[in-house]
Amino acid sequence: MMTQDSGSSVDVMPAIFVSHGSPMLVFEDIPARDFLAQLGQEFGRPRAVLCISAHWETAAPMVGGAAAPETIHDFYGFPEALYRLRYPAPGAPDLAARVVDLLGEAAGLEASIDPVRGLDHGAWNPLMLMFPKADVPVTQLSIQPPLGPDHHLALGRALAPLRQEGVLVMGSGGAVHNLAQFRVDRMNPADWAIAFDDWLGERISAGDEARLVNYRRMQAGAAEAHPTDEHLLPLFVALGAGGGAPARELHRSFAHGSLSMAAYAWG
Ligand code: ZN
Repeated sequence: MMTQDSGSSVDVMPAIFVSHGSPMLVFEDIPARDFLAQLGQEFGRPRAVLCISAHWETAAPMVGGAAAPETIHDFYGFPEALYRLRYPAPGAPDLAARVVDLLGEAAGLEASIDPVRGLDHGAWNPLMLMFPKADVPVTQLSIQPPLGPDHHLALGRALAPLRQEGVLVMGSGGAVHNLAQFRVDRMNPADWAIAFDDWLGERISAGDEARLVNYRRMQAGAAEAHPTDEHLLPLFVALGAGGGAPARELHRSFAHGSLSMAAYAWG
């Protein structure tokens, strides 16, 4: 689908949610890596990416304003090769300013710009697979875990117009994310992980926002699937930006026994 924007045509983008798994994702021979490596060709070329990662938490919404964001290696104890990786995509200061405006106008939220913030691994790990040339501008919007799913749904709704402007709104977290149950050499998931992943997929496909935002009370295994909320909150931003459109399941797989690598698209 195409639309006119300031005289030049841009592709209308979906809103997506991807699960980024372990920081070692780009080196892992698993189905999710192959899926993400082809995902960049799925939608046409975005004008820019706005990534909502589970790994940037702030009290109030913040947007990265750096023209050349650095690659943040926000993890410990991994092989040296992982720390040498860089993702030199340009930043998107114009998009950051637009996000601040939209959140103020549409959601009454006062967001601010962080002029130095780089890209955390929730952003650059999947983007390195999706857009390996690092030629699509990227910025990030932070999450506010104490404010819960409803707040993140409202963030997404306010950002929905970006899709018509050729911006790929990408939540990056984990459909199931329990690090205490993480096993490097285990790929088969536990029963509770499968049950939550199935429930989530069904509710997303049904567009069941009411149950999704109350997932802790609605699904018996939620406490094991998500001991804390932060890896699921980016999904609510994508859900809101999708504007109630039917969701498409893009991918389902598990890694390390306790991480669902599921991905969804709205629009
Ligand atoms: Zn993560």
